[in-house]
Amino acid sequence: MFIVKINRERCKSCELCIEHCPRDLLELDDNLNARGVRPAVFRGESNGCIGCINCALMCPDAAIEIEEQQDEE
Ligand code: SF4
Ligand code: SF4
Repeated sequence: MFIVKINRERCKSCELCIEHCPRDLLELDDNLNARGVRPAVFRGESNGCIGCINCALMCPDAAIEIEEQQDEE
């Protein structure tokens, strides 16, 4: 299982990560960050993220980290 962590204060709401996720797992939050924009958020954990890291690679502000977690039995 992969967890996508987005640093919401770094995000500038360019939506590149959203456009390039093959599973459509990212969206803009309704709440603004300190920069006054809607940051990208990950839609949840057990939703089929394949860990392709497209989102992290596309982010011009290096706001995204991906962690692999072991599934619990
Ligand atoms: S790692 Fe890939 S599948 Fe997972 S959220 Fe990022 S772009 Fe989408
Ligand atoms: S690519 Fe980076 S800066 Fe752009 S919306 Fe996604 S997290 Fe925010």
